[in-house]
Amino acid sequence: MNIPYLDLKAVTALHGDEIQQAVADVVGSGWYLQGKAVQRFEQHYADYIGTRHCVGVANGLDALILTLRAYKELGWIGEDDEIIVPANTFIATILAITENGLKPVFVDVNVDTLDLNLTQLEQSITSRTKAMMLVHLYGRCTYNEAIKSLCEKNGILLIEDNAQAHGCRYGERRTGSLGNAACHSFYPGKNLGALGDGGAVTTNDVELAQVIRSIANYGFEKKYVATYKGRNSRLDEVQAAVLDVKLKYLDEDNCRRQAIAHTYYHQIQNETIRLPRLMDNGNNVYHIFPVFTSYRDALQDSLQNKGIGTLIHYPIPPHQQACYKEWEHLSLPVTERLAKEELSLPLHPAMTDQEVAFVVEALNS
Ligand SMILES: *Cc1c(COP(=O)(O)O)cnc(C)c1O
Repeated sequence: MNIPYLDLKAVTALHGDEIQQAVADVVGSGWYLQGKAVQRFEQHYADYIGTRHCVGVANGLDALILTLRAYKELGWIGEDDEIIVPANTFIATILAITENGLKPVFVDVNVDTLDLNLTQLEQSITSRTKAMMLVHLYGRCTYNEAIKSLCEKNGILLIEDNAQAHGCRYGERRTGSLGNAACHSFYPGKNLGALGDGGAVTTNDVELAQVIRSIANYGFEKKYVATYKGRNSRLDEVQAAVLDVKLKYLDEDNCRRQAIAHTYYHQIQNETIRLPRLMDNGNNVYHIFPVFTSYRDALQDSLQNKGIGTLIHYPIPPHQQACYKEWEHLSLPVTERLAKEELSLPLHPAMTDQEVAFVVEALNS
């Protein structure tokens, strides 16, 4: 059997006819930017997440950059202020902070839950701390009441990086509606993926939404009248139309992901392989299914020899990247260990039961 890590062709084919039709409609409409398809998707996505506003942007990194930039324009955050962020994240979360001239303050995670280490989190708050980025990495909701009250008590903005957790729940609410603002990526491989780049910010704050929308459109307040030194970062009509189709099936697709994940949890039995703590149903949408082992590279080779594709998320933590030499002295032991031990198993909504069984068998042998 040949099981790629991700089969995007099969994932797209799950809703292929409707997607083709949606693309054809936009092509035929003659209107490709700032039109009805984006407006419709923004409304539907805001309703789905449970916020008053959604602003479509060009990609997830821009969603993060524009959110911090808008808070700077609104006076909430100033140059050199500190932003708390998990050390164990995709580099884009950090790039958005440094791009804005702000200082990331890295907090390590717990080895079993992958949540932020609360003791370290409390210790890292200073008078310059203006915001906390909460990353629902791998599709796991990482929000909790302790984080909420820490932010409230210290007057810190809570910004969610929801790039990997579309549809994930916290009680009755969805991630993306839990803090002051949330940033979403619609990169093709994400749970809600476009056929190219796309992103969005969701928030209940009308002022924030307006400033982001303006900065993303050359800083215009109205055509050719610039309030901000803006940029061009817009979601296009084709991607919005595709996303609008896929949004209807997101819960169904996430259910399939959860069913596959539960099979992995119940059936993977190998003492050398550790799984992260199982979460309540709904609190994990399994964007990525990580396993951890000190024999990571050997396991990856062995699975590859059996035709099973895997990936590593992520092999080099942001604070150890060549572009961030200024933090090479930092020690974030759990994050550094996870980078050496993590391996992501194939998991997507178009996977068959036979493919899942084949992966389990390979891991157990
Ligand atoms: C994918 C991702 C991003 C960046 O999104 P793009 O659309 O690829 O720019 C940011 N943060 C996290 C956690 C991601 O997984």
